[in-house]
Amino acid sequence: MPTPETAPSKPSNFLRQTIEADLASGALEGRHFAGTPGDAQQLALAPLDRARIRTRFPPEPNGYLHIGHAKSICLNFGLAADYGGVCHLRFDDTNPEKEDQEYVEAIRDAVRWLGFDWVSDGVSHEYFASDYFDLMWRAACALIDAGLAYVDEQSAEDMRRNRGTLTEPGVDSPWRDRPAADSLRRFEEMRAGRHAEGSMVLRARIDMASPNLNLRDPALYRIRFARHHRTGDTWCVYPMYTFAHPIEDALERITHSICTLEFEDQRPFYDWLLQHLAQLGLLEAPLPRQYEFARLNLSSVLTSKRKLAQLVDEGHVAGWDDPRLPTIAGLRRRGYTPAAIRLFAERIGVSKSDSWIDYSVLEGALRDDLDPLAARAMAVLDPVPLHLSNWDEIVGAGRLEACQAPLHPHAPERGQRSFQLGPRVWIERGDFAFDPPKGFFRLYPGGRVRLKYGYVIECTGAERNADGSVREVHARIVPDTKSGTPGAAAVKVKGVITWVGADDGLAAEVRLYDRLFVKDQPDAGGADFLQALNPHSLRVVQAWVEPSLASAEPGVSFQFERHGYFVADARDHRAARLVFNRSVGLRDGR
Ligand code: ATP
Ligand code: MG
Repeated sequence: MPTPETAPSKPSNFLRQTIEADLASGALEGRHFAGTPGDAQQLALAPLDRARIRTRFPPEPNGYLHIGHAKSICLNFGLAADYGGVCHLRFDDTNPEKEDQEYVEAIRDAVRWLGFDWVSDGVSHEYFASDYFDLMWRAACALIDAGLAYVDEQSAEDMRRNRGTLTEPGVDSPWRDRPAADSLRRFEEMRAGRHAEGSMVLRARIDMASPNLNLRDPALYRIRFARHHRTGDTWCVYPMYTFAHPIEDALERITHSICTLEFEDQRPFYDWLLQHLAQLGLLEAPLPRQYEFARLNLSSVLTSKRKLAQLVDEGHVAGWDDPRLPTIAGLRRRGYTPAAIRLFAERIGVSKSDSWIDYSVLEGALRDDLDPLAARAMAVLDPVPLHLSNWDEIVGAGRLEACQAPLHPHAPERGQRSFQLGPRVWIERGDFAFDPPKGFFRLYPGGRVRLKYGYVIECTGAERNADGSVREVHARIVPDTKSGTPGAAAVKVKGVITWVGADDGLAAEVRLYDRLFVKDQPDAGGADFLQALNPHSLRVVQAWVEPSLASAEPGVSFQFERHGYFVADARDHRAARLVFNRSVGLRDGR
């Protein structure tokens, strides 16, 4: 674990400053913890915590993680790593209806893939909030005992009305001053399944006139006859998120509980709850503290698990790992690398005010990561045949010319790729024009270009189909211009085009992905985001690619020269059927 002295210098932010101040003042000292969460009594038996700080990433296992979660993962795991701490992976599974084991596994997978680990010094720091249901229950009983909580039997409707508004204080519930013993008995009955859902809740007893609505006797427990994916039917009362989360943090000895800005108004309750439970002897001081940062809003994508689930469930995309989705699984299949996502997280930083990040920032991070790494290859995505009419004279009938190209132009040590040039090659339809616009330096009757890594050629014309489209382009080789041969550079041309040989080129399916939505903020103001779906977000083309791609492994990225970065599809690509996904173009296309 790097200590602060050896940690790589990263731009400071308010969280780093807070942590550094806490470490300097000794505010975090005296915490007992050895990997097993517990209350004050249990933790007192553990040694002093060796981690200098503890953070946590606390997803609810109700969907696949998205790029917003990636920001939180990079932040929490990154801070822990930088300051000699540990970050916990905690499944916040207190809401039985929507949660599932499938999501637990997908989340583990995503965090690991991003390059982070919750095992530290041989201790796994993976936790489930549902493992704390007993302790939470005891905490609730202790609050009732101390006159700090009560069972309220008002109807949901009355409770809502009596809560008041921002300008009017709330009205005390008629059950607010009932004896503790009475509330305890009722609370036991709730647990025993003797009351209907919605008939009563446990509430904190704070202040119905508080200007902060979250302190107007917030609900702590509700009745839900729902099967939980881990605890089964053991419980029919479940803690509210706002009650459960601070307790989870305290039991795990979290020092810095970092959440998004929506929770700022919950912080007074977070502190109220933990301070009272510490006074009651249930929790050990020093207590965790909550800090808020701005969530990631990324243009032209949705960052809500619920809305992403709708896209998947209604079949607007092909699954959680559809390459058009901003899920980590989708980004991965699209060709994003863990390093690119970490770079993105670093570039956007953390702040305390909400803002929008343009999608091009994410794409820029991917290009910057792949450029020095990805092997180059040629591909023709919109093919039209080109015939070299003087091939037999210049090269010889039936002969092919071997061509060489570097795997990476800036890393000659990585070696060469080779392919064959013959009388027939595939070129891009857009590289030929009968009537070239001004400044068009590619093929047109009379125009000269270099076939990259091959000869300079001069266009002599083209044949058309009945519908006017080009059927075949004709050209002649300009002698003595083969790349890599002496004097090849003597003939100057303004254009260089990419191509694939008809003799050794391989057929490939290429999936050209574009943004899923045509609007920058598809769900702004509650808008129906389905109306903003981009009908052209996926275009599948039959392409030709150079033979070096025969050995492309699924999940490996390439730069197709002049086109952008492409990845061999992790699901569908195989030697007998090449399938590539476009990850990102070479430059920002918008
Ligand atoms: P969703 O609405 O998509 O389900 P959530 O916040 O409810 O998001 P959780 O599983 O509760 O999802 O989130 C786990 C963690 O990820 C939380 O700590 C939350 O703050 C963080 N997180 C979620 N979305 C974003 C985002 N867009 N930007 C930054 N952090 C996020
Ligand atoms: Mg949530």
